[in-house]
Amino acid sequence: MKIMTKYIFVTGGVSSSLGKGIIAASLGKLLQSRGFSVSILKLDPYINVDPGTLNPYEHGECYVTEDGAETDLDLGHYERFLNITTSQANNVTTGRIYQTVINKERAGAYLGKTVQVVPHITDEIKRNIMNLSNKEYDIILVEIGGTVGDIESLPYIEAMRQMRWELGRENCLTIHLTLIPYLKAAGELKTKPAQHSVKELLSSGVQPDILVCRTEHSLSMELRRKLALFCNLDFGSVVEARDADSIYDVPLLMLKEKLDATVLTKLRLLERHEPKLDRWKSFLGLLKNPLHEIKIGLVGKYIELQDAYKSIHEAFVHAGAANECKVQLIYIHSSHINPSNVEETLKDLSGVIVAPGFGERGIEGKITTIQYLRENNVPFLGICLGMQCAVVEFAQNILGMKGAASTEMDPNTEFPVIDMMADQKNIQEKGGTMRLGAYPCELKKDSRAKLIYGKKNITERHRHRFEFNNAYLDQFEQAGMKAAGINPDTKLVEIVEIPSHRWFVGVQFHPEYKSRVEEPHPVFVDFVKACLGFHQEYNLGNAKKK
Ligand code: GLN
Repeated sequence: MKIMTKYIFVTGGVSSSLGKGIIAASLGKLLQSRGFSVSILKLDPYINVDPGTLNPYEHGECYVTEDGAETDLDLGHYERFLNITTSQANNVTTGRIYQTVINKERAGAYLGKTVQVVPHITDEIKRNIMNLSNKEYDIILVEIGGTVGDIESLPYIEAMRQMRWELGRENCLTIHLTLIPYLKAAGELKTKPAQHSVKELLSSGVQPDILVCRTEHSLSMELRRKLALFCNLDFGSVVEARDADSIYDVPLLMLKEKLDATVLTKLRLLERHEPKLDRWKSFLGLLKNPLHEIKIGLVGKYIELQDAYKSIHEAFVHAGAANECKVQLIYIHSSHINPSNVEETLKDLSGVIVAPGFGERGIEGKITTIQYLRENNVPFLGICLGMQCAVVEFAQNILGMKGAASTEMDPNTEFPVIDMMADQKNIQEKGGTMRLGAYPCELKKDSRAKLIYGKKNITERHRHRFEFNNAYLDQFEQAGMKAAGINPDTKLVEIVEIPSHRWFVGVQFHPEYKSRVEEPHPVFVDFVKACLGFHQEYNLGNAKKK
């Protein structure tokens, strides 16, 4: 039965990094598991049009959707938790909102009116939120980035206030995620910061309907009662969100706290059925009871901030569970690797992934790493820049092309084995101009890739400007590095493999964006399997064996 779309806003108070995205995705999962169709939207208050131009140190990974949008990494959580495919419409930024409003103003669309934050910016925000419901969802969750009280989130809070007024609170809820800090010296959990963050919301005209309390310790009944009283809430609307071992525990923790049931009551929605979470629970069972444990290295240049490789990290969690194997990812800075320490650095690892990236810093370390893995028959997965480095390494050390490089690093190299794509050459603007989003790829018969995917035609998501230079393809293939996947339209090489190696695969695309709890990505699953095989053969570490 189709119902009118209902909206649930999720705001944050007291501090950033409380996990709004995970709470929103977990609630979405529960509602979906009860038979409702759900989508999630992220509102980002920064002025960048999208996070594509942001350094990963600023904001973590840039997540790429099927339709080629460069988005906030929370969209990755939404896809991984809900098993849905998001798009540009699921991520709105202040930059995008203002850009649209200013373009309309230049086109004369405001008919001589003064263009203002209220109503023009807030109307544009509401339009973006409502636009998603064109796709007939029962429930849309809307996560507002930042913390209440931030200057830049004000228009979003105001748009939420207006929507609640216009649609009624039974159609538009606000969940406020706040922090209940534990003061060690006092030996107590403190509610005052939470009270203040609710007051801050109230001063913008919004009474939250549910308070989700992030805490290191369990909330007593008394404390819940106190929070309820001071924040104008009924007792059942104060929800505990204890720190969890894994983000994937959160849906079940929220189920225990009856967050989904409270939401349905407040939205006046009848429960359709008990949550069906069998696949989720069997994933958790595997995740929590691994039979094996291995270490896989991740060689990259943004390792100080692990959010920079968020989707890769999660893809290993999914693939590890699928192999009943705990994968400990060892983050290694590419600039720290050189020929004299490479063996020492990598010798205990069961496999290595060389990460995506841009620019020259750390390139030599990546190439040295790949040479070691290739020569020692250690499992290797290269993603995007990682694949390009594998091509450069092969050219330098097997094909004898001294100084071979990607023209990204050395525009004047004698052997441009990786070169800028033709359609990128005249592009000046930086934002949204790479080769982005899903493209088809045809897998070669007898390739490892074909075995991994179990089919001939796949699509994967991309984010790059450079490509394998097909002028060199024959030389590579004759020397033992094969093109295993080709874009059928442009002939661009999407996958390289060394068939004589135990497991050596480089992919121009980003498989990590498509790995989900309920659909772990086959490339990661097979890579972990190969690493586990290597580990067992060489008896690395002290593995728990079957
Ligand atoms: N810098 C490389 C390119 O633009 C690789 C990009 C990436 O790793 N995402 O082609």
